Amino acid sequence: MVQKITLGTAQSSPGAIQYGWWQAFDHPTGITECLPVIIAQGIEEGPCLWLTAGIHGPEQAGPLVIYRLITQDLVNQMRGTIVAIPALNPVGLRTNQREPYHAPSDPNRLWPDGKPRQVNDPDKDPPSSLEQAYQRLFDEIKASANCLIDYHCAWTGSLSFAFYDRVLYRSDGDEELSKKEALALAEKQLDLLHAYGHTIVSEMPAEKLLDDDLHRSTSAAIYYLLRLPAFTVELGTGEVPDPSIVAASVSGTRNVMRRMGMLDGDLEPVTGIRVVDPGFPVRRCSAPRVNQACVVIHLVEAGDLVRAGDPVAEIRDILGRPIGDGLLRSEYDGFVIGRQHGIYYYPGAAVLCLAIRDDAPRIAPYPADYFQKPV
Ligand SMILES: [Zn+2]
Repeated sequence: MVQKITLGTAQSSPGAIQYGWWQAFDHPTGITECLPVIIAQGIEEGPCLWLTAGIHGPEQAGPLVIYRLITQDLVNQMRGTIVAIPALNPVGLRTNQREPYHAPSDPNRLWPDGKPRQVNDPDKDPPSSLEQAYQRLFDEIKASANCLIDYHCAWTGSLSFAFYDRVLYRSDGDEELSKKEALALAEKQLDLLHAYGHTIVSEMPAEKLLDDDLHRSTSAAIYYLLRLPAFTVELGTGEVPDPSIVAASVSGTRNVMRRMGMLDGDLEPVTGIRVVDPGFPVRRCSAPRVNQACVVIHLVEAGDLVRAGDPVAEIRDILGRPIGDGLLRSEYDGFVIGRQHGIYYYPGAAVLCLAIRDDAPRIAPYPADYFQKPV
């Protein structure tokens, strides 16, 4: 018996692609914001893969991956179910903004974090309508998902890459068991990332990740709280999607389905994109930074390997004259994920997003009071 999955008005049907709407929240002007839902189900039983996109308005390659991937031909070959939401933040998509005007904060930092909530604190704003909607959607994901991929875009001309987040584990119970389970989850995640076949980059170290609320992203909430493989992929340019990256992400997603047992056959080659593996694990880092206002002329581009001491940009004044020796150098070994946009920089601004050597362990403990301290 194939699993019956319902999300809003969409109901799974074996061998078919079903469409519907999930009610997220009401606008004061009388309309309800609904998220579009696609449920594609094979005839045979199998795992359930959730695919989400469109949480940041200007990042428009992800929805295309979902449209290209889900075809009747795929359904005829697959086992199990895909539940896809190509517009997690329709307001941001309509206005081409990262943040929705009705809840002006990064929507990809609003997902549950597992902490107890302070009830009715009169001095604190309650969760926004969007945050409440994501809490309910999290429960829907919990009910059926075995894995989730959330599609994003990074910068114009940046590499297509996938994040390999460190797993956080609890140290307030059986710590050895928690560590063992965390390592197993990290391994499962890495195996699916290898199947996806794009460049792999780790997130920042655990304490920075928590500081930046990155544990409250769509994929991180599923990864950390549901302990399921779930990852964010970054598909290069957002507002002018690159068809090669979209095609390579469709291939990568089909490979994830193969690894999960949803499709038969060997992994297909992921072609048409630059995949960088420097031979050591890497994490993302915004560097180098300029220490004065200047004009920047980048000397490297996405995918280039860099060594500490290599010049990566020329720095000049507004008249075009070199400042100092005229060069900005990398402090790290690694490679360029993407160039920051523009040529005019204020002091402290990063010029590149680099992937730098990362020898830190793949798992890290939650802070001791994390699950006790209400927010
Ligand atoms: Zn994004």
